[in-house]
Amino acid sequence: MTLRAGREVVDEVSRACAAAYPEEACGLLLGPVPEDFDRLGREVRADRALALPNGWDSSAKTNRYAIDPRRLAEVERGLSGTGRGVVGFYHSHPDHPAWPSPFDLKMAWPCLSYWIVRVDAGAPLDGRSWQRTEDGRSFVEEEIVLEDS
Ligand SMILES: [Zn+2]
Repeated sequence: MTLRAGREVVDEVSRACAAAYPEEACGLLLGPVPEDFDRLGREVRADRALALPNGWDSSAKTNRYAIDPRRLAEVERGLSGTGRGVVGFYHSHPDHPAWPSPFDLKMAWPCLSYWIVRVDAGAPLDGRSWQRTEDGRSFVEEEIVLEDS
């Protein structure tokens, strides 16, 4: 399993995660949808990051995020028929490791990449990406490959 991302996508995700601190940032990763998207071991390439507002009420935004399903549906509708789509979500973990929480697991869909960026005291650190297993019981880490674009 691999998530490929261009330099400007990484910069955009880092910027959004730093800007949202101490709250969690969240957004979509867009790119070409591979034919084997639902195969474990697949590779996707995010060529665009789209920041979205964290939909939780302010008290909970420091440790969880919510993406408005209407916004998500809108984006998917806009891309339908283009061969592109939502290939993953990104979000930040303010002052916490880039390790998915039980809540992240509960909310996760199969196939998508879940890119988590640790943000310590406002500075984005490492990013790690995860994919939910078919049975929904755990995440498996995938490789993030940075591409020059
Ligand atoms: Zn999380």
